[in-house]
Amino acid sequence: MLNFGAGPARLPLEISRQLSQDIIEYQQTGLSILELPHRGEAFGKILSEANALVKKLMQLNDDYEVLWMQGGGRMQFALLPMNLLHSGRSAGYIDSGHWASEAIRYARHYGTIMVPASSREQHYHTIPQIREAIPEDWAYLHITSNNTIYGTQYHHFPDSPVPLVADMSSDIFSRRINFSSFDLIYAVAQKNLGVAGVTMVVVKKSLLQQAADNLPGILSYREMAAKNSLVNTPPVFAIYSCLLTLRWMDSMGLDKLDQLNRHKAALMYAFLDESGLFECLIPTEFRSNMNICFRMKDEQLTGHFLDYASSAGIQGISGHRSTGGFRVSLYNAITLSDVEQLTAVMRQFEERYDKG
Ligand code: PMP
Repeated sequence: MLNFGAGPARLPLEISRQLSQDIIEYQQTGLSILELPHRGEAFGKILSEANALVKKLMQLNDDYEVLWMQGGGRMQFALLPMNLLHSGRSAGYIDSGHWASEAIRYARHYGTIMVPASSREQHYHTIPQIREAIPEDWAYLHITSNNTIYGTQYHHFPDSPVPLVADMSSDIFSRRINFSSFDLIYAVAQKNLGVAGVTMVVVKKSLLQQAADNLPGILSYREMAAKNSLVNTPPVFAIYSCLLTLRWMDSMGLDKLDQLNRHKAALMYAFLDESGLFECLIPTEFRSNMNICFRMKDEQLTGHFLDYASSAGIQGISGHRSTGGFRVSLYNAITLSDVEQLTAVMRQFEERYDKG
C-alpha cells in the first residue's frame, strides 16, 4: 500500500520497525519506551538530543528554545495569543486558508486581530500579498507557511517589522529556508515529524521575555521553557518518535530533502499540467511542494479514479472534505519511486478512459 495521506502521514519503515522494538524494550533499560520515566536519565537524553537536532537542522543558535507541547495545532492557535497578545495590543494574521482562518478565529478570543491580507475571495488558490505597511506596534504577524488543504505554499516570506510567527505544521523540515527570520515557529507532529500527540514550538528567547507571566504553567511558553518541556508528564513516545525522524532527516540533510521534495512535486505538476483528465487550479508561483491538490476536469470521474487508485494500492488521496477532488501529500517519507508509481496509475487510468 502507498499512503499519500495528509496526516497522520507515512512514517519511514525503518522508524516504524525501531519504534516497535523499543515498545518491547528501550535500550537495555528493562522498560518499554511506553514505561520510561519522564524525569529519568534516558528520557533526558532523548529530549536533549531532539532539541539539539531541531536547532541543527534549522541552523539556529542558542537565541532559540525548543518546546514540546500537547494539544496539537489548535492548542497553539490559542496559546500564541494567550502568551503574546496582552496589554491591549493587536496582532496581524494573514488569511491564506482554512488553518490560517482557524488560527484567526481562536485568536479573536484574546485580543484585536487584524487581517492585512486574505485570499478567501480567490478560494484560497493563492498566497495573499500584504499591500500596506505593517504597524510596528502589533505584537506579532502570523502566517501559515503551507496550506495543507488548498495546496499552496509561501515561496517568499513577508518582511515584517514585528515578530514573525509561522504555523509550519505541513512543511516543517521539507526545505532549506532561513528559519532565523522567524521569532516563533510551531509544527504539529504526524506529517514530517514523528507521530501525533506532540507539537514542536521553536521560540526566540527575546520573545519569551515579553510573554505573559500570569498563565498557569501548562499554558505558558515561558514556564515550558524554564522547565525544559517538563511542566507535566510529556508524551514520551511521541517525542521519541520525533527524535527518530529528526535523526533520519539529519542523516540525509535538509538540502537533499529539499531537492528531493522539489523533484517529486515537479513530477506531479508536470503530469497534471499535461493531463487531459486531471487539472491543478493553483497558479504555478503558489503551488505547494508538500500537498498537491487537483481534480478531474469531469468531476463525475472522481469516484471512479478513487476506486481505480485504491485497487492499485494507493491510499489517502481524497481531497479534504471541504474542497473535494484529490490531494496527494508528498512529505519527506514519500520517495520518488512512490510518485512515479502514482503517476503511472494516473496515466493508465487516462489510457483506459481514452479507450472508452
Ligand atoms: N495547522 C496546519 C497547517 C495543519 O495542516 C493542521 C492539521 N494537521 C493543523 C494546523 C491542525 O492541527 P491539529 O489537528 O493538531 O489541531
